[in-house]
Amino acid sequence: MNANLKNTLTELAGKPLAGCTDQEIYLALLELVRRESDARRTPVRGKKLYYISAEFLIGKLLSNNLINLGLYDDVREILAEAGKSLSDIEEVEPEPSLGNGGLGRLAACFLDSLATLGLPGDGIGLRYHFGLFKQDLSAGVQSEQPDPWLTANSWAEPTDVTFPVQLAGKPVTARLYRLDVTGYEGRTNTLNLFDLDTIDESIVHDGIRFDKDDVEKCLTLFLYPDDSDEAGRLLRIYQQYLMVSAGAQLILAECKERGSDLHDLAKYAAIQINDTHPSMVIPELIRLLGEEGIEFDEAVQIVTDTCAYTNHTILAEALETWPRGYLEKVVPQLMPIIEQLDAAARARTGNEGLAVIDGGGNVHMAHMDIHFTHSTNGVAALHTEILKNTELHGFYELYPEKFNNKTNGITFRRWLLECNPALTAEIEGLIGPGFKKDAAELEKLLPYADAATADINILQQLAQIKAKNKKALSDWLARTQGVQLNCEAMFDIQAKRLHEYKRQQLNLLYLIHQYLEVKAGHTPAVPLVSIFGAKAAPAYTIAKDIIHALLTLSRVIAADPEASQWLQLVFIENYNVTAAEKLIPACDLSEQISLASKEASGTGNMKFMLNGALTLGTMDGANVEIADLVGGDNIYIFGASSGQVIHRYAAGDYNPREWYEADPNLRRAIDFLTGPEMLAEGREENLARLKNELIGKDWFQTLPDFNAYLVRKGQAVADYAFDPLGWTRRTLVNIAKAGYFSSDRTIAEYDRDIWHLGE
Ligand SMILES: *Cc1c(COP(=O)(O)O)cnc(C)c1O
Repeated sequence: MNANLKNTLTELAGKPLAGCTDQEIYLALLELVRRESDARRTPVRGKKLYYISAEFLIGKLLSNNLINLGLYDDVREILAEAGKSLSDIEEVEPEPSLGNGGLGRLAACFLDSLATLGLPGDGIGLRYHFGLFKQDLSAGVQSEQPDPWLTANSWAEPTDVTFPVQLAGKPVTARLYRLDVTGYEGRTNTLNLFDLDTIDESIVHDGIRFDKDDVEKCLTLFLYPDDSDEAGRLLRIYQQYLMVSAGAQLILAECKERGSDLHDLAKYAAIQINDTHPSMVIPELIRLLGEEGIEFDEAVQIVTDTCAYTNHTILAEALETWPRGYLEKVVPQLMPIIEQLDAAARARTGNEGLAVIDGGGNVHMAHMDIHFTHSTNGVAALHTEILKNTELHGFYELYPEKFNNKTNGITFRRWLLECNPALTAEIEGLIGPGFKKDAAELEKLLPYADAATADINILQQLAQIKAKNKKALSDWLARTQGVQLNCEAMFDIQAKRLHEYKRQQLNLLYLIHQYLEVKAGHTPAVPLVSIFGAKAAPAYTIAKDIIHALLTLSRVIAADPEASQWLQLVFIENYNVTAAEKLIPACDLSEQISLASKEASGTGNMKFMLNGALTLGTMDGANVEIADLVGGDNIYIFGASSGQVIHRYAAGDYNPREWYEADPNLRRAIDFLTGPEMLAEGREENLARLKNELIGKDWFQTLPDFNAYLVRKGQAVADYAFDPLGWTRRTLVNIAKAGYFSSDRTIAEYDRDIWHLGE
């Protein structure tokens, strides 16, 4: 027992801990963490990184900070002695809702790894009051509600640092909020979040509606506000500009304070542009350097040397372009600079397809990034190859030296130590604690995972840990959603944003098929619990139809006593980091079934693997690297290759109706969508629209992969049922090989190849 710590905590709480409410203890712990992390702030020498991102999906912070500061075990013990449970206190903390999916979670993992590796690197983003949205499924369809997370005592503290920003010719004041980022036995960095004092939360009504024209009241209410109308699109530009203008002013002020004369900015700062949302930082920095008397050509060179760009997607609709008229309205001060950049780019290449402003007057943000930064990276090996060979081929020919790959990673502090303490302890017992700082040490587990040398006792312990995690998930779901899971079943999980390219609809068709098989008397080798977690963008009609179909099928199955012995379909409401931390340790089979070539990397795939699930996946994103590392026996791969898919798109001859008509299983499953069982529970409009989409368009080629998916998933279920120890042994191979996917490795590569921090 740490008596000092106990005294400090009691002092902070202002009374004996046993007499405190969970809320009071939470506040005392928040203050304790602040003091301890403050003590780990060290001055920056040499170059510092600024990671600018529209999203930071940081998750709850209390436990993570306690672990990183080395206080977790002591605090838990002190609280237990006072009759309090740390996990109850965690429930008091609202999850900061500052991100959407993988891209935002990546930014959060990167901040953790920077601080852990002792590298000076701060985040820059926005302080959204209501985050993305809170998903409500109570009516059998998704509806959206505000997701408030800002409380009187929030991790993000206001400062008196402000910057003036011109929005559509009108000055506003951006205020800086600071949030400590602790590293595991490392330094403390900062997440800088900007906001306006004039935001008015009360203008939100009927879910997430609000007047988008009143920019000073609404600018930071939500992440990714609906952009299906012009006001929404303009609002996104307002948001982006507030972030980059205040961010750029902060960067220049800090660098000057540390001795930069701005001509040498690249020696003091590295700026990583996370996807295209922060791209306007390029013209904004050039503008600010111009105000400091630096000529355009030199400013372009300084900015190019300082900035680097990460591409996250090859989906055409996600490569942002803005009509110049929008930019002229919101950021008239930038348009002359963007025009000069367009002229400079055109002087370098005659290829019209690489222009910053195209013939139709649209500004291509990614093009500006590639021309005027020194590095463009993809986020997994396959993704970077596709960028070089296909999507960005012209740019690759012009600037081969700028292109590089940085395969994504995850922080093992959150995605192993915090979310799976039992597995962490088991691993530590086998190979010692070194893997916590050096994830490559997980390979020391390999002898235990080798069929020749595996120890049955150890495998049984691992199986018990999985069983306990499944029970814990079931208990949590019983409490939060009133759902009881069959813990004897295989847990099959697809948790990620809802998007057609991720193909939740393929899984849906499988489950319909399984249901019909059970009804026909063909029962599987083991019961299956199939769990989904996914938010759909509010204006994404088909994605919402897929959610509705899954919810409806879930009811059809649950209402059928025969089928529900074998099959359970559960949809987790409001999938977020907190839910992910419960789901992932409980998973047996990880669904990573995107259409090959479409998932840039994925990071969910890495979290599941690390926590002892086997992957059922396509050769897409980082699945390719997982397959290379664990070998074909330890992963279930199926489906068309990225080459075949790209070819099919190029040929333009894919006709889903032909597949529908040729495969009776497929036809039966698709027809079921609008059959009497589904219509009795669900809405015809949504179900019929989804069916028509699958037969008439199926842009993400679900139907050609259906049969391969059926076969491969059947194999996984049979292996799980008939060789449980072999299954566990293969999960251990996955755990042992997961070290490569530590974001510490990713960040070390960014630093080595792009940033050169501290030098
Ligand atoms: C990791 C994570 C994601 C990303 O999942 P993918 O399967 O890579 O798309 C999305 N949301 C949350 C909450 C996550 O933790």
